[in-house]
Amino acid sequence: AKYVYDFTEGNRNLKDLLGGKGANLAEMTNLGLPVPPGFTITTEACRHYLAEGTLPAGLDEEIARHLSALEATMGRTLGQTDDPLLVSVRSGAKFSMPGMMETVLNIGLNDESVHGLAKQSGGNERFAWDSYRRLIQMFGKTVLGIDGDHFEHALDELKGDRQDTDLDAGELQSLVETYKGIVREQTGKEFPADPREQMRLAVMAVFDSWNAPRAILYRRQERIPADLGTAVNIVAMVFGNCGNDSGTGVAFTRDPGSGQQGVYGDYLQNAQGEDVVAGIRNTVPLQDLERLDKHCYDELLQIMETLENHYRDLCDIEFTIERGKLWMLQTRVGKRTAAAAFRIATQLVDQGLITLDEAVTRVTGDQLAQLMFPRFDGGAVKNRIAKGMNASPGAAVGKAVFSSERAVELAARGEDVILVRRETNPDDLAGMIAARGILTSRGGKTSHAAVVARGMGKTCVCGAEELEVSVGERRFTAPGGVVVSEGEVISIDGTTGEVFLGEVPVADSPVVEYFERGTSAGAGEETGEQQEASHDDNLVKAVDRIMRHADGVRRLRVRANADTPEDAARARRFGAEGIGLCRTEHMFLGERRQLVEDLVLASGDTERQAALDALEPLQKADFVGIFRAMEGRPVTVRLIDPPLHEFLPDLTDLSVKVALAEAGSGEASDKDRRLLAAVKRLHEQNPMLGLRGVRLGLVIPGLFAMQVRAIAQAAKEVPGARPEIMIPLVAAVQELEAVREEATAILAEVGVDALVGTMIETPRAAVTAGQVAEAAQFFSFGTNDLTQMMWGFSRDDVEAAFFSRYLELGIFGVSPFETLDRDGVGRLVRLATDEGRAVRSDLKVGICGEHGGDPDSVHFCHDAGLDYVSCSPFRIPVARLEAARAAL
Ligand code: ADP
Ligand code: MG
Ligand code: MG
Repeated sequence: AKYVYDFTEGNRNLKDLLGGKGANLAEMTNLGLPVPPGFTITTEACRHYLAEGTLPAGLDEEIARHLSALEATMGRTLGQTDDPLLVSVRSGAKFSMPGMMETVLNIGLNDESVHGLAKQSGGNERFAWDSYRRLIQMFGKTVLGIDGDHFEHALDELKGDRQDTDLDAGELQSLVETYKGIVREQTGKEFPADPREQMRLAVMAVFDSWNAPRAILYRRQERIPADLGTAVNIVAMVFGNCGNDSGTGVAFTRDPGSGQQGVYGDYLQNAQGEDVVAGIRNTVPLQDLERLDKHCYDELLQIMETLENHYRDLCDIEFTIERGKLWMLQTRVGKRTAAAAFRIATQLVDQGLITLDEAVTRVTGDQLAQLMFPRFDGGAVKNRIAKGMNASPGAAVGKAVFSSERAVELAARGEDVILVRRETNPDDLAGMIAARGILTSRGGKTSHAAVVARGMGKTCVCGAEELEVSVGERRFTAPGGVVVSEGEVISIDGTTGEVFLGEVPVADSPVVEYFERGTSAGAGEETGEQQEASHDDNLVKAVDRIMRHADGVRRLRVRANADTPEDAARARRFGAEGIGLCRTEHMFLGERRQLVEDLVLASGDTERQAALDALEPLQKADFVGIFRAMEGRPVTVRLIDPPLHEFLPDLTDLSVKVALAEAGSGEASDKDRRLLAAVKRLHEQNPMLGLRGVRLGLVIPGLFAMQVRAIAQAAKEVPGARPEIMIPLVAAVQELEAVREEATAILAEVGVDALVGTMIETPRAAVTAGQVAEAAQFFSFGTNDLTQMMWGFSRDDVEAAFFSRYLELGIFGVSPFETLDRDGVGRLVRLATDEGRAVRSDLKVGICGEHGGDPDSVHFCHDAGLDYVSCSPFRIPVARLEAARAAL
């Protein structure tokens, strides 16, 4: 196998093999952009190394060959004493994992070549020693596994109140000696002086960093497969730390927060690598580079335009300026907030760079769902204590905590927390996941906190510089002497960057308001990027445009799970094309419990019929409201499903009441005593598998008939109503036949047309779908029950009991109640759909479990050829969008 690719050999389509960083470095090289030369060791080599513990045979030779070629290009050899070539050894996986893995800069320096570097830079001793101390520090930490604090302390001690740039050559040289001492002390060995040895060790360390705990955690969170491995990039060093004519920066081709076009980035003079994101000194906005180095600034803007046009998307970049010469060190299609994703997608359509079809694929249902989160109420009284940068939108309220550990601890107790830090680093990841929001006092929109929070869709305010954060004392101070200690509630607005003391009430999002206006209402005329149009207006227009197009391309219909006229009306406004699941349970609750009790206690046909007769008009009225709200669209009504004892008083409560009365200290009626007997009689060890669904309909005469009659009467009253009657929990066609016969007779008697079908939610119904379809005009997969029965675990009990352990072990990557389990449940769904349709070609097939609103499950339903998904009203826009994405 070929394990090493020169940058000139790769391209952006080789991310699997070269990782994102390597593939894009190759792409930029081939575009003719100024990229320092280098090569990439493939992810395949990494996978081999991680599996076998050794580098694959031949890799050393292959690296040596590519290194020789690089040395020839550069006209110097690695670590050459009088004129050294230095390289960086950089991780880079297929999916970007910001700051999760390792990179070592300045490889090739030692006690001799440090003098060569000084000579090479025209006698810049300070720069040479600064580079050397950085090498020992980075190498010591990442390759030799020494706690970075040892180096940090030594540096802080030397600096005192000064900045790192104030250290002179002599001081940096002494720091190198101190650092070498730390290495000796911590590892019992000398810092390795041989450049090739340095490089080889660094390569293996980068491979190993794939399995660092924080990388594993990040992958789990982001659902990145654990077995991809990372590539390693060896890149000739360019130096931003040579003086004030040098520097390093990061930039976006447009605002990743809002999508606004313009110049966004941070720049730091006389600095190297991570300095700009680590917050060691304050960066300047990228615009200032125009003043500092007009030539490089113009070239950079030109390159950013080239990259946008080439990638046809927002790119983020890393660059370094070495004595007035610009170098590109990284680019990728950049992460962005949900709002920016929608706006950028439509802007790119307007620029003629992508089609509307592509625009639909550039946004996700998850992003849309995020935009539907509430925000802080604009009218509420707020006690603003600071303003930072709006790094990742949303409204978060919680108790301030100052360490990752505390955040995890309190969140595990069910408390909402805001993680407050000066700046975050990869070790804070667990706390960032646990927190509702993140607040930092240092760092810009490209800081670790900002990048990671945006990736996770978590609210973040960063760089709130007015805040003095003291992690040690677990508190921060704000202007005006406000002190916030651990446990005090604060609110942060990631959309505006504001920080408030106390709890601020939240309000609806503009996107929800737009949907509430009804999708057919539209969002007004397109006005383009008008300056005066607010961010919200532009966002709503972008969402409207994409949703309209999505509705035009999707095949899958979208229905709602709704049980009340209000929910049905909202579902309509959100774009529902029918109701896929109207539960009737609640129609037996409240004041109607009384009637259910009468039904259960009925001692003969007459009493029972009287109870049912009393229920019928009430149910009919409910259906009338729902049919009206749906204006002629299909409404699937599921007949009663849960066991009857769920509607009766609690066994323990009732037992106590009767027992107390017996003992003479309390009252219990005769009805109480009869109810107690009934509750005892109906009690089940395992109600989920007990007397429920169709079984109730077959055991309690008249119950289903009453419901069918109520549906039919209601349909008769509402012109155009399209009821569909759904029988739950069927396992055998014979059950369905019995109920169906009665139902069809009632429908005929009332003179109403309705489909009669069944839920497919027991494995037996699915496996015998060919038989069931003989008696069913439609199937609707009840994937909640189907998942429970297929896996043999109860949703109500197991999630808390062992799911986290199962996720940890990788038994499933995500709860099968959240995302449909394609291999198991999905296989049954396909089988039942195919066998059902083989018997009845016009069989309508849908899904009505929670999965109907889950993006991945929607894609499955599209692939499996279902006719519709049904989900809760708030998920309808998500399902519409994902159905379109699945079709493209
Ligand atoms: P990450 O994936 O964490 O961003 P990188 O591999 O991009 O890590 O490198 C870390 C930092 O070092 C970045 O700021 C990058 O621009 C800088 N860097 C990497 N290689 C070089 C190089 N050859 N010359 C100068 N700076 C470099
Ligand atoms: Mg980088
Ligand atoms: Mg069910």
